[in-house]
Amino acid sequence: MSTSVMNRLRELEYELGRRQSEMRKKDEYIARLEQRLDERDASVRHLRNEIDKFRQVVRPLTQHIMAMQISAEDLIGFNPIDGSPSVVGGSLKGRPTRQAISAEPLRSIDQLTIVKVKKSAQSRELIKGAILDNDFMKNLESTQIREIVDCMYPVEYAANSIIIKEGDVGSIVYVMEEGRVEVSRENKYLSTLAPGKVFGELAILYNCKRTATIKAATDCKLWAIERQCFQTIMMRTGLIRQTEYTDFLKSVPIFKDLPEETLIKISDVLEETFYNAGDYIIRQGARGDTFFIINKGKVKVTIKQPNNTEEKYIRTLQKGDFFGEKALQGDDLRTANIIACDPEGVSCLVIDRETFNQLISGLDEIRTRYKDDDVLERMSTTNKEFQNLKLSDLQVLATLGVGGFGRVELVQVNNDSTRSFALKQMKKSQIVETRQQQHIMSEKEIMGEANCDFIVKLFKTFKDQKYLYMLMESCLGGELWTILRDRGHFDDSTTRFYTGCVVEAFDYLHSRNIIYRDLKPENLLLDISGYVKLVDFGFAKKLQNGRKTWTFCGTPEYVAPEVILNRGHDISADYWSLGVLMFELLTGTPPFTGADPMKTYNIILKGIDAIEFPRNITRNARVLIKKLCRDNPAERLTEVQKHKWFDGFNWEGLRNRTLTPPILPKVRSAIDTSNFDNYPPDADSPPPDDNSGWDINF
Ligand code: AMP
Repeated sequence: MSTSVMNRLRELEYELGRRQSEMRKKDEYIARLEQRLDERDASVRHLRNEIDKFRQVVRPLTQHIMAMQISAEDLIGFNPIDGSPSVVGGSLKGRPTRQAISAEPLRSIDQLTIVKVKKSAQSRELIKGAILDNDFMKNLESTQIREIVDCMYPVEYAANSIIIKEGDVGSIVYVMEEGRVEVSRENKYLSTLAPGKVFGELAILYNCKRTATIKAATDCKLWAIERQCFQTIMMRTGLIRQTEYTDFLKSVPIFKDLPEETLIKISDVLEETFYNAGDYIIRQGARGDTFFIINKGKVKVTIKQPNNTEEKYIRTLQKGDFFGEKALQGDDLRTANIIACDPEGVSCLVIDRETFNQLISGLDEIRTRYKDDDVLERMSTTNKEFQNLKLSDLQVLATLGVGGFGRVELVQVNNDSTRSFALKQMKKSQIVETRQQQHIMSEKEIMGEANCDFIVKLFKTFKDQKYLYMLMESCLGGELWTILRDRGHFDDSTTRFYTGCVVEAFDYLHSRNIIYRDLKPENLLLDISGYVKLVDFGFAKKLQNGRKTWTFCGTPEYVAPEVILNRGHDISADYWSLGVLMFELLTGTPPFTGADPMKTYNIILKGIDAIEFPRNITRNARVLIKKLCRDNPAERLTEVQKHKWFDGFNWEGLRNRTLTPPILPKVRSAIDTSNFDNYPPDADSPPPDDNSGWDINF
């Protein structure tokens, strides 16, 4: 080898060594930065935790301060017209509470009519523009926006009159066409709104107290819509589409014998796709696994002929016709061309083989997993034990918690201190006021029938003039919320255990078509052995096979987008909240959190992909959370047990309670309440019932 080559080689070796050393240094630097990042993450968590604890200590003061914080933040956000909601399950515990919210139930769809109001093209444009400019309303579908525009009616206010008053309960949303309005809170001016703006929009979701006053600064012309009308529009569009799609499906031979509930599920996953005139929707000879139903427009079927470049026209298909059905059964070679031939384009409803098969197998799996012979057995044994028990046999020992309608007390029976129970007492007047009668009845029915180790058992109910009572098993380990607050966040395996308990409870409920609707760490109680149970069934509902429900309820941070958008929801909404729960347990904070409910909803509508995942969430956990928090309810993972994040998890051990729980609560006796916060006595004496008999079945 010549000297020059040798020299070159030495130079290269030297250069290589230098670069390797540089790389090592960079790696070390990155490692140091990563370590600092971890320390900062930990410090942020610690500080959040401290803030929570601090808030708990200075509760009355903080509530006032928090109210003021919202007004300050709203100065830079949208105008604060709505805010404090119709609180249903919120508690007065010494901490910043996350209030559960419920709208009043909707009347049946056939009782509802919508009234259209004639308006000029200019007004229509203005209203539409205002809706599209609004963070929440712009997410509605274009047909829904059109109907809202149709239904808005005109209202006029003279200068200096009050349009919305702080503290009032609101049910109307406005769009301003002419004039100027002033927004103020506690007599302090906040801002001025000009034409083309929506205001008061939280009121279309549920009853809520207005948190600001809106006064006409000049004579004003507004357009208005009531919540009932808005919700009717939302419900109608959803139902009309569902009926239309299922009717389409019934005309397809491979679908026609499927049960209605399966057809509804399939219609939920159909995706609408548009094609321009001349587009080949499918091409002969190509492979494909999609099935199409024509929703709008016409297509041409052609086939290639041997030795001829011209395609032969076979026939034309139109709305309601379908093609590609063999692809769903595994035969994926296309035997003809399908070409969009409508000058205005063609819209098809599309489903692919994988989605179709997953859906069919998922339905079978859930249907066969449980048989319901245990309910009657449980009811007869419990009934016997508590048959003769009277309210006067119970002694109240301490308060365990405060819920939306009253307290939950720790009680014992006939002074027997070896056993204890939780007695939830709910003020009848408050139930009637917030129109939650139906919800309370289903709470009793669902909890009373549930026979699952992961759901708090309800043994007996009582009532008197002022209260309804529910006697339940007591869970003395306290709320998972309290433990999370004290620890900041949980590691992967602790989170897996608690999530596993919820998955078991959900499986039990969902296989019976029951939706839970209020998942959050506050509603997960630890029993003495450290297993978690679901409590508070105030929003649980039994759905008819394959049907959806429309009432807005849940806790803002945990509600699914389809609930916010009034699209109708079903058990998939619980899987969304399961993803939110996992995120909160792993990090200490839920992923979607805004300064007020409307801001939280707008963050939810932006979707999980807009959320940054802290580094301590492992890849598998992140993937699972994203599969649970899919915008499209039909795409959410429901067979959670099979996900990678649960690989190796001992489900059998969880079910038969041999698996060691991550945290063992300290409970010294059946009457030890040290895992709960302290509560001052309730000074409120509610009025007696009006004897209308609404609680006859309680
Ligand atoms: P609820 O009104 O059902 O949300 O209950 C309010 C609070 O009371 C809960 O968040 C718990 O802290 C407490 N609580 C409710 N049920 C029980 C129970 N069975 N055992 C122990 N504590 C309970």
